[in-house]
Amino acid sequence: ESGFCPSTGIYHSKWDGAALLPPPPAAALPSFLLSAGPPAKAAFVDAASGAALSYEGLRQRTAAAAAALRGLGVCRGDVVLVVSPNSLHFPVVVLGIMSVGAVFSTANFLNTREELQIQIRDSNPVVVVTTSELRPKLLGLVSGPLVLVPELLQLVAQEEAVAAAAAVEGTSPEEAAALMYSSGTTGKSKAVVCTHGNLIAMSCILRQVWLAAHGGDPGEDVYLCAVPLFHMFGFSMFVCGALAAGATVVVLRRYSLEGTLGAVAEHRITRLPAVPPMVNQLARSPHLAEKFDLSSLREVICSGAPLAGDHRDRFRRCFPRITLSQCYGLTETSGPITLCDGVAGKVHASIGRLVPSMEAKICDVRTRRPLPPEQIGELCVRGPPATALGIDDEGWLHTGDLCYIDGRGLVFLVDRIKELIKYKAYQVVPAELEEILSRHPDVADVAVIPHPSSEAGEIPVACVVRRDGSSISEDEIISFMAAKVAPYKKIRRVRFVDSIPRSPSGKILRRRLKEATLEGQRLE
Ligand code: AMP
Repeated sequence: ESGFCPSTGIYHSKWDGAALLPPPPAAALPSFLLSAGPPAKAAFVDAASGAALSYEGLRQRTAAAAAALRGLGVCRGDVVLVVSPNSLHFPVVVLGIMSVGAVFSTANFLNTREELQIQIRDSNPVVVVTTSELRPKLLGLVSGPLVLVPELLQLVAQEEAVAAAAAVEGTSPEEAAALMYSSGTTGKSKAVVCTHGNLIAMSCILRQVWLAAHGGDPGEDVYLCAVPLFHMFGFSMFVCGALAAGATVVVLRRYSLEGTLGAVAEHRITRLPAVPPMVNQLARSPHLAEKFDLSSLREVICSGAPLAGDHRDRFRRCFPRITLSQCYGLTETSGPITLCDGVAGKVHASIGRLVPSMEAKICDVRTRRPLPPEQIGELCVRGPPATALGIDDEGWLHTGDLCYIDGRGLVFLVDRIKELIKYKAYQVVPAELEEILSRHPDVADVAVIPHPSSEAGEIPVACVVRRDGSSISEDEIISFMAAKVAPYKKIRRVRFVDSIPRSPSGKILRRRLKEATLEGQRLE
């Protein structure tokens, strides 16, 4: 039942009714995805204007974007950075980039100029595609062209584009398709290279799971994209999964509760992938929700960060007709690797079961030995959507998450042991904030740790050792940081301490600081 093999210590996927995946075609991701839906069907719809892009329209626009990028000198293997909020253009541009054999990279558009510069230095894009609002923040950061999305799509006449459309021949599954950023289990943000093979595997997995779990034709679903497409959760669900399933995605440019409810009602949304703060907000606003016709909505799929038990229960009380399920994944796994089926969906605390073709091990944190069902250890996973970052010699990706798998094969997430902080499901990387804080002349030593927050999930808290004679205040530290980082990375509380506990090798003992902070709760 659990899929556990006692002789190897490995859990195998026991996905309900899932036949073996068809072997991924040895193609580039765009040609694989663009052949999936019926030509006249809407692939993407703009929530606000109702403008729709059919599968055929998406193919043509992708070809236009690809031809324009070629015209700008973009070659196979080059990196093109996309800095943009959600829009109908977003999927067109990323599919266009991959169609010329280039690699798309994304950045959070909320990041400051300095934060974008660090990522640009690391990924070295030859072209940056952005919007007119974001252009000033990027001016001067790149040596190559800085192009606005609409300009890019107008660069090439349609006929020319179709002629140039033939995707790069012979793209191999091992070639890079995307460069996303994640901290992994420790240190600063680094590039996660997703290959065409990784993303095609994820597309096949989602299509397969939705087929088995939802029953009927997964192409009949209408998804609302209210989470950012620049993050792997959004990209994998709405570009890889939804297109592979031949479904329709309604794109919300920027999340708001009313915008979400309005779009569900207007576009007859059936499934809403969400992050925990959205679920919490929905559950706290039943009176507002009553004003909208939500009768089409069958499922809210929550991912990206832990969903608190009381938020989950409140949601279920308010919306008994809507299934609330969870899925779990990492940037490093190209998207979700556990999802809920009918059984898992009823076990509310579970993050689901392993998707087809994925294997898992639960490793004792100290001895690294694999553990049997019901025992807690670090979740390690192996399978075709897992990228190379953080993979050991035997192909296992260490997730940095503390989990157990029960006798039914359901996965439960207990705690996070990696350094990462998740503020409203956004990645906040302690090492980055520590480096900036340590440059302050009044700071002798510092460690940044997560602290539980009902609204945001976690907030970053700085534990600061003042320099001798300094009387720097919490407010001064908070404003020093606020001027330097994106809003979601702000230090929200400061705790002054006498010293930062470190291991003999100099590693910050974060757990000890976290426990002391939780015990104190005072955050003086
Ligand atoms: P990211 O690479 O930004 O997607 O972050 C991946 C991390 O988010 C995982 O390693 C988990 O710590 C956390 N995460 C993702 N999904 C869930 C979930 N459903 N429940 C709890 N934590 C999650």
